[in-house]
Amino acid sequence: MPKPSVVIFDLGKVMVDFEYAQAGAKLAAQSDLSCDEIRRVIDHTPLLCRYETGRIHTREFFREVCGATGYRGTMEEFSRAFADVFTTIESNVELNRAIRRQGIPTYVLSNTNELHHGHIRERFSFFPEFDGYVLSYEVGAMKPDEKIYVAAEKLTGKRGAEILFLDDRADNIAAAAARGWQVIQHQTPAATRARIEQLGLL
Ligand SMILES: [Mg+2]
Repeated sequence: MPKPSVVIFDLGKVMVDFEYAQAGAKLAAQSDLSCDEIRRVIDHTPLLCRYETGRIHTREFFREVCGATGYRGTMEEFSRAFADVFTTIESNVELNRAIRRQGIPTYVLSNTNELHHGHIRERFSFFPEFDGYVLSYEVGAMKPDEKIYVAAEKLTGKRGAEILFLDDRADNIAAAAARGWQVIQHQTPAATRARIEQLGLL
């Protein structure tokens, strides 16, 4: 395999961890449902999928959540609770910096939405440290749909084994490997770093 000329990172569970429990509790306090029931509306659901593929916008997402849960807070309160679920995975932030110091461009390829993207962009200092961003709600397709990988190839100007892609999900990794990309299914920072070193990127 040739040494990759660009590296593309997933965000969720790679650059940032997320935990919906607290958000669920905050939202539940102002709704008719329990924390777990709220999660069944907003976490990996068809509604979230419509939001993350840009088929509905934030206001509509909020309206639908209110309809499904009886949520009584304002859109601002909802937005804050829904978005404030992330913490940085420092070792991978450091890994991105180390790769970039070698002169290798790096990118983000993420299934996300306007509220989460806005929150991460505003609050996380690592976020500007990439050459470009492919975001599902802007592209209109989510991983593992091939359309979003094509968008990443266009943005980077690279294809096949020139690209190294890191993601925590097997389905997202399989779709990238099917295009000939080099892949790492991220499990631990130490294992990922070792693979990156093997590939000659550090
Ligand atoms: Mg992920």
